[in-house]
Amino acid sequence: AADVERALELGADGVGLLRTEFLFLDRSSLPSEDEQARTLEEIARGLAGRPLIVRTLDAGADKPLPGMATEREDNPFLGRRGIRLSLAEPDLFDAQLRAILRVAARHPLKVMFPMVSGLGEVEAAFAALQRARADTGIDEPLEVGIMVEVPAAALLAERLARLIDFFSIGTNDLAQYTMAAERGNERVAPLLAGPHPAVLRLVRETAAAAEAHDRWVGVCGELAGDPAAALLLVGLGVRELSVAPALIPAVKAALREVTIDDASAAARRALAASSAEEARQAAAALL
Ligand code: PEP
Ligand code: MG
Repeated sequence: AADVERALELGADGVGLLRTEFLFLDRSSLPSEDEQARTLEEIARGLAGRPLIVRTLDAGADKPLPGMATEREDNPFLGRRGIRLSLAEPDLFDAQLRAILRVAARHPLKVMFPMVSGLGEVEAAFAALQRARADTGIDEPLEVGIMVEVPAAALLAERLARLIDFFSIGTNDLAQYTMAAERGNERVAPLLAGPHPAVLRLVRETAAAAEAHDRWVGVCGELAGDPAAALLLVGLGVRELSVAPALIPAVKAALREVTIDDASAAARRALAASSAEEARQAAAALL
């Protein structure tokens, strides 16, 4: 809640990614449904009617929950994380969804699920949301989205789009899994630097599927906070960007320099580029 004021001062129109992990980490017990609802309510109040996109818990593996026993995994980034963990722990997931629904009854919340890799997960998450609606008796409309962070989700976007209201592309993980380069490993960091054409092609795939089904697409990975890359994302059809508060002014300033047509032309050049650096040049030339 303390960050909301600063984000608004810097020009935010809402919150595009609330990482709810912060409620679960660094403590030995899980937060209750009431505590979760209170915290979400406080953040939503600070936003005074602006949208708040709540991401369900993205813990597991490299972000283990101290309040829950989890088995060791050899490759935690490829393990039971995000929606996989939530679906394996229905009590935890249902409590979080009930808390979200309670606040969504009074504020413009949206919810999204992390690390989706296929339709079955989305259907199971919707079933959980239905249970939470039945338990709380809350039936106010709630926009439901999924994060596109796994290449499979981008490649299946045309099918997934029918089930959901929006996509939010998590370029941090999408780049990691596309380039097979771990986010935190400095030795492979150059593989993840900048708007790589392989990642941009998955963004294009996602945006085209969304457009065909009249859904909207946002980007909430760090790529959105890089002004030249943001321009390429918009050129590919992305219409919502979620960035760290300090980066909002620079991204807005860059976008105001160009028309959508200019951005689309730059994006087409970037898709044909042979490296992230060359792709970035396509946009930087406009700024
Ligand atoms: C992402 O993967 O791009 C993302 C926004 O999620 P996180 O950084 O929390 O994994
Ligand atoms: Mg992620």
